[in-house]
Amino acid sequence: FNVPIAINEPVKSYAPGSPERDAVLKAYKSMYNSKVDVPLYINGQYISTANKKEMSPPHDHKHIVGTYHLAEKSHVEEAIATALEARKTWSQMPWEQRAGIFLKAAELIAGPYRAKINAATMIAQSKTIHQAEIDSACELVDFLRFNVQFMMDIYSEQPESTSDAWNRVEYRPLEGFTYAVTPFNFTAIAGNLPACMALMGNVVVWKPSDSQVYSAKVIMDVFEEAGVPAGVINVVFGDPVMISETVLSSPDFSGLHFTGSTFVFKELWKQIGNNIHNYKTYPRIVGETGGKDFIVAHKTANPRQVATAIARGAFEFQGQKCSAASRAYIPKGIWNEVKEILTEQVNSFKMGSPEDMSNFITAVIHEGSFNKLVKYIEQAKADSDAEIIIGGGYDKSKGYFIEPTVILTTNPQYTTMHTELFGPVITIYLYEDDAFSETLKLVDSTSDYALTGAILSKDRYAITEATTALQNSAGNFYINDKPTGAVVGQQPFGGARASGTNDKAGSPQNLMRWVSTRLIKETF
Ligand code: GLU
Repeated sequence: FNVPIAINEPVKSYAPGSPERDAVLKAYKSMYNSKVDVPLYINGQYISTANKKEMSPPHDHKHIVGTYHLAEKSHVEEAIATALEARKTWSQMPWEQRAGIFLKAAELIAGPYRAKINAATMIAQSKTIHQAEIDSACELVDFLRFNVQFMMDIYSEQPESTSDAWNRVEYRPLEGFTYAVTPFNFTAIAGNLPACMALMGNVVVWKPSDSQVYSAKVIMDVFEEAGVPAGVINVVFGDPVMISETVLSSPDFSGLHFTGSTFVFKELWKQIGNNIHNYKTYPRIVGETGGKDFIVAHKTANPRQVATAIARGAFEFQGQKCSAASRAYIPKGIWNEVKEILTEQVNSFKMGSPEDMSNFITAVIHEGSFNKLVKYIEQAKADSDAEIIIGGGYDKSKGYFIEPTVILTTNPQYTTMHTELFGPVITIYLYEDDAFSETLKLVDSTSDYALTGAILSKDRYAITEATTALQNSAGNFYINDKPTGAVVGQQPFGGARASGTNDKAGSPQNLMRWVSTRLIKETF
């Protein structure tokens, strides 16, 4: 197969005076000061509805940047019907044509839409420019480019044939339509989930998060300009319960591609189970859900490396990555040094609006998240087995700001050692230097999740022991690094246990879930 070789989109620096900085600030200002209206997108048409909701930046929640339209049940039914109609031609479209569309989408985002998609992510999801760039520009472009290569890897996998029996496998799209449910925290994931299913010849009903509508709109504009035909990807916003119930009760539902909370994923799985007798085919279920991601330091670890892994792993994008470090196990012998460097680093983080590019921390996504985090912070202040050693402040008068917060606990089972908070809070437990093996057991048994984790050590025996003892504790395991920042084509991403089905985003393994193979044997 001859397809362009996928390369990771280089991350731009946004240094003062750089053209990309000027471009994104210009886009940010103009989008911030105008009002966007985001209808549904069904059958290639923007559809207005009777109910609208306002959108506000989490860092400036009284400011309105636009509105989006809420679907009625009939709109969801129309999206399904339209997708099934589009399937008749889309599923027969040669792979080169499908690939061409999504490769063009990648180049549109890398070029003319880069400032706009980054600005939308900064405004509506409160990402700093650097966090927006690695997400909505680079990672989304990487997904779109690498998916084509993964598709080729799949298609080239063929059985043996003999001189009188020619065996071949056809990688057909799923029969029916697929459903993408996407989160607020990565614009790249939001774009990739519908795109990778469509690339494999499927048609899609896509429900983005309410907190990610603005960048979803930019993605749809890109897909439309790149040539995704009408009906192939249909976008509905609104009541998630009604939308999912309508989708999952259709006999033609054939696959769920989900990123979001463990609770919602399990609820959807239950509904699929309840409807199982109505479906024409067993639906594919792929989900990436929560995490309680860990950092374990060994006594030989470099204290500066440990402090940096915590500061960046726990606090970039306000700790709202599924992969964010939220519990750490540090040996007492290196703690003083780690604490000193960590305090210095975190105190140097500026907090505020993403428009000021010197800010490292901005707001958390919404009031519900803010209130939940405050509850745990206040609890830690009150509990005798926990203390807040860095941060602990918060303020929602203008935006939902929570200071990067470090809780130190004497109780390895303390609530925030196992509860997912999804915010800028990490809890640290100190262990005796020679209790490494027992600590690894604690790491493995304290949480139901198994998404990401990291071991920091200079001792190869300790690294080996941790790698073995934590074999099932994380789907992405990092040695001497922070547990975040997986790059498409380099670190396929996903976890097991309560963290998901581990069908690795950014891998042929994931795309394989969106095809149903037919074996053809021909004799001569
Ligand atoms: N792939 C991202 C990372 O490694 C996390 C994705 C997520 O939060 O779902 O940081």
